Amino acid sequence: MNNDLLAKYEAIVGSDVIDQLKQMASRLKDARILHVNSTRYGGGVAEILRSMVPLMEALGLSVRWEVIAGDEPFFQVTKSFHNALQGFPVDFTPGSIETYENNNRKEFEKLEKFLKEADFVVIHDPQPAFLIKLMPERKNKWVWRCHIDLSKPYRPVWRYLKNIVKDYDASIFSMPDFTQPLPHPQYIIPPSIDPLTEKNMDLPEDEVKAVYDRFGLDPEKPLVLQVSRYDRFKDPVGVIQAAIMAMKFIPFQLVYAGGGAADDPEGEIIYQEVQALAKAHPDIHVLYLPPDAHRTINALQRAAHVVLQKSIKEGFGLTVTEAMWKYKPVIGGDTGGIRLQVVNHHTGFLVHTPEGTALRIRYLLFYQEKRNEMGKKAHQFVKENFLITRHVRDYLSLMLSFIS
Ligand code: UDP
Repeated sequence: MNNDLLAKYEAIVGSDVIDQLKQMASRLKDARILHVNSTRYGGGVAEILRSMVPLMEALGLSVRWEVIAGDEPFFQVTKSFHNALQGFPVDFTPGSIETYENNNRKEFEKLEKFLKEADFVVIHDPQPAFLIKLMPERKNKWVWRCHIDLSKPYRPVWRYLKNIVKDYDASIFSMPDFTQPLPHPQYIIPPSIDPLTEKNMDLPEDEVKAVYDRFGLDPEKPLVLQVSRYDRFKDPVGVIQAAIMAMKFIPFQLVYAGGGAADDPEGEIIYQEVQALAKAHPDIHVLYLPPDAHRTINALQRAAHVVLQKSIKEGFGLTVTEAMWKYKPVIGGDTGGIRLQVVNHHTGFLVHTPEGTALRIRYLLFYQEKRNEMGKKAHQFVKENFLITRHVRDYLSLMLSFIS
């Protein structure tokens, strides 16, 4: 057991939470757990595994994390599967099936030993899902962990994948809305954040204050923040409109911090559009951040008085979790996983329009006590529901349900 790491989590979540994890893990100590996904870096799945695997190891579990490789055509096909599962019609041909299955066959040869010796195999997303078809005689338990919103899939692709996924012993989805009927138990396990990472750890006061100078902000004015990619679903235009409306009544500055749009032509267009809208307003700051600006985002979230996530469509909305963890009330679009996190009038406000957003900004900036009270509730809500320790607990319960 790695007591140093456990002690760090314990200092945050308390000894009862860690003791419960230890007790659960002790019943699984002879079990071998194998996670398989398709990338070690970049993206939410890798980020979660980078925190989850060390924590499971620290609990004394035998955990292995394997990554399947693939060539460009394979990732093109799996990217098209990803889009299809989220509802977009794609080109789905016998050729794409062949590319997908052949790549899985090749990777199976490398992973066969680990797939056989593990007691629990957790396969993340569609990329390695076909591996199960290559082990018809298996004796262990296989779980498909779907991180994608399957609520309205493009049917031809889902019909094909469903025929694979149905062979698993269970599947995991992030939210009830994301599921599809399947002939095995389905578990709902929402995502989580890790309080020990650069994005979420406590920062020295100086480092938080330094963002004012760095981005030319006014330390005397309250700060309203939205952190999001430049994407229409995050409604950046609505955010600017709301700020312009609210600024007529109460002084503050808005920061819209986004980035990661370099390989996305639409992102660049939206960034330009947002910049043009903000141009005449010196209190609106539109930032373009590099993809590894975790500490900067952390500092901005901590410096903010109110955080917005005015999405019109959202998966889970990790930016909401991150801001709430930093004691910020969140004004969020009434959609997707934002609804699970923003408890209206308690941890923030749910909104539908720029007008509604402007009203809530004014309210929260005006009533400082209310803002602090909601921020505290927001932090507590994340502590109880959306930290990596809860995430690991859910995985352990799932595995225990197979052996008890
Ligand atoms: N993020 C980032 N840089 C940016 C914008 C977002 O690092 O310019 C991070 C953000 O802090 C969060 C994640 O990317 O951890 C976005 O997750 P979310 O679920 O909010 O939205 P998605 O972008 O996956 O739709």
